[in-house]
Formats: sequence, structure tokens, C-alpha cells
Amino acid sequence: MHRRTVLQGGMTLIATAMAGSGKAGARQTAVLPDDEVFMKLAIEEAAKAEFPFGAVIVKNGEVMARGHNRTRADKDPTAHGEMVAIRAFLSAHGPDALEGNTTLYTSGEPCCMCMGAILWCGIGRLVYAASVEQLSTKIGQIMLSAEDVASKAPFVSIDIAGPVLEEDAMKLFK
Ligand SMILES: [Zn+2]
Repeated sequence: MHRRTVLQGGMTLIATAMAGSGKAGARQTAVLPDDEVFMKLAIEEAAKAEFPFGAVIVKNGEVMARGHNRTRADKDPTAHGEMVAIRAFLSAHGPDALEGNTTLYTSGEPCCMCMGAILWCGIGRLVYAASVEQLSTKIGQIMLSAEDVASKAPFVSIDIAGPVLEEDAMKLFK
């Protein structure tokens, strides 16, 4: 099982590299049919949080971890939804399982901290709802897109898709 996962991850990376990319490391890709299903779960997570950001991590069609913003609850400014979901995944399944053919769905395009974590973990695909530009109309943002950050990381390949269901995500901001 472990061996198969590693092989799949490696093949994903090779396939992505061969497909070519305008920017090193990042590839903007199409939204897939199942993406709305999983994004709804990420938005459900966001609805639980004081700052409405949520994320789920999916592998082989299965939700493996969830998280929502806990910055106030945990008195931890780094407890963004994506970070909480990544930490939950790591403690339950370990880093090898996270690398490769996993998809992280997030209700808000990741900030540069979260995008850095996504890249360091080798997550293969990212799907976001509201963009940094959209979020910045409601809450302070570091004005770098996920693709901007990934484009500076030539050591890794990641497929990025979005926005999807962005109106549902933005509705959570009062
Ligand atoms: Zn973040």
C-alpha cells in the first residue's frame, strides 16, 4: 500500500512536469466534476470558524482530514484552516501519505504561509473557492496568489484549480 502510494505520487509529478507549465512548479488546471462535492465540505468547515476559513484533504476520493481556522480558539495566529487540516492529516496518516496524489480543498485561496506548507508537504493538487483578491475585500490578505508562491518553488509540481463555489465561501463573511 505504502509502495503503491509512493509510485502514484511519483507518476503524478512526472506527468505534471511533462505536461509543461508556463511557470515553474505551478500549473493552473480545470475544475473537475467532484470538486464541488468536496468544496462544499470545506465550506461547511469554514462555517464552524470565527474567521470563516475551512479545508479538507482528499485522497482516492476519500476525505482524510478536515480543519477550520482556530486562530482565536487556540491563540495561535498560524492556525489557519489549511494548517489545521495538514496537521490533522500528518498526525493521523504521516507525511508519506500526504505527498503526491492528495488534493487540498480550501474555502479561501491559501496565504503564502499555508501555500508554503502545502508545497513543503508535496500535496499534488490544490482547489480553492474564494481568491485572495476576493477575500481582500472582506479581510486583510497578503496579496500573493497561490500560483505566485508555487511559481517560486521549482522543486515541486502542483496543479491548482479555482475559484469554485466562491460565492458560497464569500457569503460566510458578514
Ligand atoms: Zn493561511
